Amino acid sequence: MSRFIFVTGGVVSGLGKGITASSIALLLKARGYKVFMQKFDPYINVDPGTMSPYQHGEVYVTYDGAETDLDLGHYERFIDEELNYSSNCTTGKIFSSVIEKERRGDYLGATVQFVPHITNEIKNKVFEASSTSHADFVITEIGGTIGDIESQVYLESLRQLRNDLGKEKTLFVHTTLIPYIYGSGELKTKPTQHSVIELRGLGIQPDVLVCRCPYKLDDDIKKKLSLYCSIDKQNIIDAVDVKNIYQIPLNFYNQKLDEVILKQFNLEIKKSNIDYWQDLVNKVDNLKDEVEIALVGKYVELHDAYISVVESLKHAGYKYNTKININWVDSEKLEKENLNLKDIFKNSKGIIVPGGFGSRGIEGKIKAITYARENNIPFLGLCLGMQLACIEFARNVCGITTANSTEFDELTNDPIIDLMSDQKQIINMGGTLRLGNYDCKIKKDTLAYKLYNEENIKERHRHRYEFNNSYRNILEKNGFVFSGINEKANLVEIVEYQKHPFFIACQFHPEFKSRPTRPHPLFDGFIKNSIKKSS
Ligand code: GLN
Repeated sequence: MSRFIFVTGGVVSGLGKGITASSIALLLKARGYKVFMQKFDPYINVDPGTMSPYQHGEVYVTYDGAETDLDLGHYERFIDEELNYSSNCTTGKIFSSVIEKERRGDYLGATVQFVPHITNEIKNKVFEASSTSHADFVITEIGGTIGDIESQVYLESLRQLRNDLGKEKTLFVHTTLIPYIYGSGELKTKPTQHSVIELRGLGIQPDVLVCRCPYKLDDDIKKKLSLYCSIDKQNIIDAVDVKNIYQIPLNFYNQKLDEVILKQFNLEIKKSNIDYWQDLVNKVDNLKDEVEIALVGKYVELHDAYISVVESLKHAGYKYNTKININWVDSEKLEKENLNLKDIFKNSKGIIVPGGFGSRGIEGKIKAITYARENNIPFLGLCLGMQLACIEFARNVCGITTANSTEFDELTNDPIIDLMSDQKQIINMGGTLRLGNYDCKIKKDTLAYKLYNEENIKERHRHRYEFNNSYRNILEKNGFVFSGINEKANLVEIVEYQKHPFFIACQFHPEFKSRPTRPHPLFDGFIKNSIKKSS
């Protein structure tokens, strides 16, 4: 069985608990151990799939089709391991499964209670992560902050797990804040002391403290924290604010956090191969050039809604030693206001239209695609971006002026984008999209093939609508190339326009597979061509 590391957060939210958990996983992986990660989200939605991006940021999709919290994106990008369905669990999921069991009669007449029924269900999720991954370590982040009503039942489950498995199999990391008071010029430990007291009140004594602070903690502060919180001094780690989040695992490594953990578990401290990460940090800190990319979307005020897309652009930038500056373009403004596109895209060397749902801002995105196509600006369309690229091409090149998606106009005469027949009966919104990995076959002699250099790929999906095959011929005749196809269901996966220097769009979400040390081929090509455009 795996060893379990639980990461909690105290004092305030937004301390970087997810990055702390990912950094720990990265360090253990670098020591040669197999790691797996999991997040508990204490809200009652079954998954974040139905939540507005304004509420929750991006929905991250795993290869096996789970719609998850965006923190899982950080996890995968940091540890470069594919996570799965058991990596994200919400209170909604736990409750539904307990209620389903109760209705089925599984509890044999017992009164169903928080303890032990809900707590057992939570513990089972932790064990499921271990048994599906066969990892040496399962690192579980508990969403929310100590003291929230919502997270109490999770903490109770973890308390029980420590009791069941002991200190050699479980370890608690508590992430807290050490604020700096400007008047007296002091770092203050009191909020952390109280947070640990609160955690102890729930029966949990943390083993490691990760202290977010503006300055390094000196020895006296660590001694004080150690005394009041009953934690060994070397187990008190500072997480000083950093410019570049990739620095964090290195800061933890320098404070021997991985060794502290391995010692508690009585495991061998194997040699660390962390150098590759140090190389990445050096690269990111010393980017030579810059390029501006326009990202056209309707949630542009909330950058978290496009976090994986932005990260993927940056990854490709690292490869070419180039910093990516994003020109956030609000598609609704493009649609409604009579803006001069030349001004808006003046400095942008590439245009990206990412995924989205609903009709708001659609015509604005189409205008941006027309602009990219007509002005030879590198273009990358993702999911909705591909659907709109097809609509744009049908309307403005093939003369099918009423081309649309039935998502925006159910009665359109030309449903270029439509539901597949087996989806037409679906009434539920949650979990009913085409989700997760599907195969795609790439045609030779296409841009897609040049980028992937592979014929058979798998990519992650999250959408309901598809390209309508009855329009393939006419678009092809006018120069569109359908370069990637899912052969099993005969669905369009990648389109491109070869009379343009770089115009490609895909039905899937490549942004979920890009990694800082391994940019995704589509982003790689897009950034390479955008840089070319600027020189
Ligand atoms: N709204 C479109 C669909 O459901 C595209 C979804 C997306 O971009 N993720 O098919």
